[in-house]
Amino acid sequence: STLPLAGRSAVVTGAASGIGAAIAERLAADGASVALVARRTDRLDELAGRITAGGGSAFGVGMDVTQQDSVDRGVEVIGERLGRVDLVVNSAGVMLSAPIEQARSDDWARMIDTNLTGTLRLIGAFTPGLIEAAGEGGTADLVNISSIGSHLVFPGYGVYGATKAAVTQLSNAIRADLSPYDVRVTNVEPGLTESELGTHLSEEAQAGLAGMFDAIGPIASADVADLVAYVVSRRREVNLSHLVVLPTRQA
Ligand code: NDP
Repeated sequence: STLPLAGRSAVVTGAASGIGAAIAERLAADGASVALVARRTDRLDELAGRITAGGGSAFGVGMDVTQQDSVDRGVEVIGERLGRVDLVVNSAGVMLSAPIEQARSDDWARMIDTNLTGTLRLIGAFTPGLIEAAGEGGTADLVNISSIGSHLVFPGYGVYGATKAAVTQLSNAIRADLSPYDVRVTNVEPGLTESELGTHLSEEAQAGLAGMFDAIGPIASADVADLVAYVVSRRREVNLSHLVVLPTRQA
């Protein structure tokens, strides 16, 4: 096959919806075999069915990235079905509005556990395989979906922004650790993107977000997927390390 990602084995977290689902679909269309990871297995199975029907290769793996035992089980299934993984995309994430004066520590913990610790759990599980793949002359990629929110300030979203700033800095630090092994690290910072991210917000916060969507106009998850597909299909000596992608009207 002449598809750009033929022979690659990928794991995409957050593949039940939004950016993760779009990335998974695109990587599969470009020839990768893809493990689809999230908690809603019905969504994953539906997407896997669509990919398979189109001639691609994908399967769903139920996993809660906040639970180490769930991650361990899922990683084992992925190893059995996919073998060594050479492309990891961390897109699982939650955004809750947690105004600092309301001290909703459960919301803070959920965002930190999912966005930061969850990403770390996947990195911990798959880094040895990425190093091995690159060591054998293959192409190996770690892609973290951070956010433009790691640089900008949105009132009420301080903890979310902090988790994303942590992911961005983690990507930078890990790139220094992994570059000697020829493993690429790409940090993606999307701006406003159409997805289900806002669905966990309070009604009031959803209204605020809707105003932003109306004013700016979001990009599509498929737009982000398009760029990720570009990044991971460069020759292995080229690392597009930082990707900021915004709606044109989001300055
Ligand atoms: P979605 O809510 O559509 O996607 C989030 C995905 O993460 C879902 O598939 C969800 O599936 C999964 N997920 C959430 N919690 C867990 C968990 N504990 N374990 C496993 N999977 C989990 O939103 P987006 O696609 O927008 O979000 C993807 C990433 O993009 C996030 O990290 C977000 O912060 C980032 N981002 C989004 C922007 C936007 O404007 N949309 C802008 C910048 C960054 P399930 O619930 O089934 O587990």
